[in-house]
Amino acid sequence: MNCQTAQECLLRRLDEALPSALARELEDHLRTCSACREEQRLLTESWDLLDDYPAPAPSADFTAQVLAKARSVAAKPAPARRFLVLRRLIRLAACVAILGLGIWSWQRWPGRGTPDEALIRDLDLYENLDLLENLDLLAELDLVSDWAKE
Ligand SMILES: [Zn+2]
Repeated sequence: MNCQTAQECLLRRLDEALPSALARELEDHLRTCSACREEQRLLTESWDLLDDYPAPAPSADFTAQVLAKARSVAAKPAPARRFLVLRRLIRLAACVAILGLGIWSWQRWPGRGTPDEALIRDLDLYENLDLLENLDLLAELDLVSDWAKE
């Protein structure tokens, strides 16, 4: 038995009798562990202090008050079953609508789509890449820009 289990057993022993095997293990541990013996001493002192304080007595009409409260709760009409079902259906419909909107948005998110779709979208660009590179090269030449001004 380790110290944590021993201290749990000490607490448990205050409320109830430990099973005999567990009680023997606890006693064996307490013989060898001074920290747990100290814990036991403090717990026993605290427990004994509680004996000095009398338990508060309930008021004379405590039982009558509890019964009256229980009767008032029981007397409240429960919401009609069909309204409960309707409320659940509305919640379910709202969940389905939110889920559907989420899926719809996710599918239309920019950049979404399969790699094939992106390839098809940019196919013209890939096919005319040589031409575009040559246009950039021409634009960089001063000759062409001077010619364009005229
Ligand atoms: Zn211990």
